[in-house]
Amino acid sequence: MKIIDNINDLKNEVKSLIGPIGLVPTMGALHDGHKSLIDRAVKENDNVIVSIFVNPIQFGANEDLDKYPRTLEQDVKLCQNAGVKIVFAPKVDEMYGTDKNNLTLICPPYSAVDKLCGKSRVGHFDGVCSVVAKLFNLSKAQKAYFGQKDAQQLFIIQKMVKDLDFDIEIVPCPIVREADNLALSSRNRYLNEEERKLALNISKSLFEAKKMYEMGIKETNKIIDNSLNLMQGLEVEYIEFVDKNTFEFQQNLNDNTIMLIAAKTPISNTRLIDNINLCTNF
Ligand code: AMP
Repeated sequence: MKIIDNINDLKNEVKSLIGPIGLVPTMGALHDGHKSLIDRAVKENDNVIVSIFVNPIQFGANEDLDKYPRTLEQDVKLCQNAGVKIVFAPKVDEMYGTDKNNLTLICPPYSAVDKLCGKSRVGHFDGVCSVVAKLFNLSKAQKAYFGQKDAQQLFIIQKMVKDLDFDIEIVPCPIVREADNLALSSRNRYLNEEERKLALNISKSLFEAKKMYEMGIKETNKIIDNSLNLMQGLEVEYIEFVDKNTFEFQQNLNDNTIMLIAAKTPISNTRLIDNINLCTNF
């Protein structure tokens, strides 16, 4: 496995690869959720490139860019054991040069970002799309793997690929959870024991909602009330229902509905997101 931190070396190495290339973009602090993407990519491609880059342009001014966990040594081991060919872990200046305020960006449309995470994280998805587009160009991958944990991100990337005719297949991968259903996240490391207990009520709300839907409850109000009850002690940012194909808000629930939650914990102020497909738990 090669560990590469600059763009020229990556371009040269990619030229020498034989066979299909799969890309797994990450911000590092790898866990079993990331590993599921990597394992799938290794199964489906002769060559897998994992990028590890805490992308500053997708963080807002008051967000956790500085304290975001950076565990490159462990991440590299995980990639090596999983059969990855290249870890691409560039420094910020290597990706963006020194004039970060004058970059050409890819900005998804307002209709896709004026809701859910895009509403509170203004500019976030511009940063995501821009870095992902760069990684698509650099890796020359035929397939790229993204988690359904970040459902709005996945939707926006799929839209970008379609709208801009990127020659790459986006492979959605299911959410990996702890045994007690907490969705794995690099940010879970911020949680103390008490907060972790509270955080469990996010996935609990989603799974109870799914049960309610399966029992025939189609009104969002009842489901929201139940979720708010369960999530007392957390600062709920949103509980929303969208059509999984269009990401339009839904009043009447149906088998295409995804329910999404974002909430912050009270002590470390950790922002957590999770979602569930009310019908099939995709
Ligand atoms: P991140 O490092 O948080 O930017 O995530 C990199 C990729 O891993 C994204 O496509 C995420 O959606 C995916 N991912 C993160 N957590 C999980 C999880 N618990 N299950 C599945 N995929 C995940």
